Amino acid sequence: GSHCDDSIVSSVKIPTIKFTKLFINGEFVDSISGKTFETIDPRTGDVIARIAEGDEEDIDLAVKAARDAFDHGPWPRLPGSERARIMMKFADLIDQNVEELAALDTIDAGKLFSMGKAVDIPQVAATLRYYAGAADKIHGDVLKMSREFHAYTLREPIGVVGHIIPWNYPSTMLLMKISPALAAGCTMVVKPAEQTPLSALYYAHLAKLAGIPNGVLNVVTGFGPTAGAAVSTHMDIDAVSFTGSPEVGRKVMKAAAESNLKVVSLELGGKSPLIIFDDADVDAAAQLALTGIVYNKGEICVASSRVYVQEGIYDEVVKKLVEKAKAWVVGDPFDPEVQQGPQVDKKQFERILTYIEHGKREGATLLTGGKPLGRKGYYIEPTIFTDFKEEMLIAKDEIFGPVMALAKFKTIEEAIARANNSRYGLAAGIVTKDLNVANTVSRSIRAGTIWINCYFAFDNDCPVGGYKMSGFGSDLGLEGLYKYLHVKSVVTPIYNTPW
Ligand code: ADP
Repeated sequence: GSHCDDSIVSSVKIPTIKFTKLFINGEFVDSISGKTFETIDPRTGDVIARIAEGDEEDIDLAVKAARDAFDHGPWPRLPGSERARIMMKFADLIDQNVEELAALDTIDAGKLFSMGKAVDIPQVAATLRYYAGAADKIHGDVLKMSREFHAYTLREPIGVVGHIIPWNYPSTMLLMKISPALAAGCTMVVKPAEQTPLSALYYAHLAKLAGIPNGVLNVVTGFGPTAGAAVSTHMDIDAVSFTGSPEVGRKVMKAAAESNLKVVSLELGGKSPLIIFDDADVDAAAQLALTGIVYNKGEICVASSRVYVQEGIYDEVVKKLVEKAKAWVVGDPFDPEVQQGPQVDKKQFERILTYIEHGKREGATLLTGGKPLGRKGYYIEPTIFTDFKEEMLIAKDEIFGPVMALAKFKTIEEAIARANNSRYGLAAGIVTKDLNVANTVSRSIRAGTIWINCYFAFDNDCPVGGYKMSGFGSDLGLEGLYKYLHVKSVVTPIYNTPW
């Protein structure tokens, strides 16, 4: 099922790269050091473009612009309906540039162009519109004090926000973070992932065209330990929203604690279980399980990387899974027939292959896949291990690739215990027709999202966030807006009592 044997790049549609500089205070500028870095096409390993490499001093400039825009600029002071109008225009501009934005994420991240065009990019415009719709509905409560006081809460924008973005969904993650912050009236500095800087700069350009005032949205491309760390340590950033690995999340939280105790929210990935019960439709369940791990080449934090199948249908599910994995089409992500593109970069590619070696060495059975594909580029076969134990690295760690760990279980109690036996708690899936089983399992699993008879069902109104080491603080939904708002209590005597 692979298109990948030989020359993988079937159709080269590299768009002209228009934006390669930092976006600070409404202008595209070089980095202060003048340094640049290469961004690579994972289909080939070739350089796409050189991008301005921002560092601590560029972050500082961007924070100054954001601070000024927050303290003195119009954005936080506009009526919510006015911010909404500008955000709607921003969304329209995204719709008008869907193909180009999708193509940028395809060459930068290896994502499927068909998916970007039909789903991911239209969806980010929808995210902007969702939060635009909330921008004029931000209000507090009237409180009942025990004495003769009138009290109410105000929800005020939290201030200057730092957004640190991962590379797996460059557009989705960016808009998931900036849209609610814009609606709240915050100003912000964005640090895109160094692997995927292209689309973020394009969105900055569209934001300016839409009329977002200078300094409100700044984008500083560069590396994590320099530009990223400068965001988390900055004394004048009020909140940092991070999505990425637990290792870096820990550093961000530590840096926040050691600098100005800025508000932190972390979304740190997972090792999400999918539990398939005996009463499931075998074919549909096998498809759900495969898609759950190979979708976006496994580079998705909620991937169903641990699959537990009840013993009655285990053998049938295994058979179907192997058939489906072998038929899954890996190749050039611009090709509409292809279902899985290359991993984002050489480092991730090698990391995934190392985990596959661990799996073999630890004694799990390799059912299918396990090898790289193609002469160049970072393609990996859909890979399934069975007979895993929760102590094995392939079952404990987030691999972030198309590698499934599959196991058999007997009872619902066993399934719940094994599913919860993880330091992560981001998502979980349940496949059953039995409502009692579905209810019991969804209440027993400590994870932020539970999908029953579906997987990857996201919507703007549905918050996503983690339990345990998957982090804290949700994105999307109104929860995702509230994290960019401070609650202030205002109290006054009802009668003008003389003190
Ligand atoms: P990965 O290891 O899979 O690339 P990371 O968690 O390292 O994922 O990356 C997520 C984001 O965090 C990227 O934008 C990256 O540049 C940034 N980052 C990496 N290291 C740091 C750091 N020390 N401080 C702040 N941000 C960082």
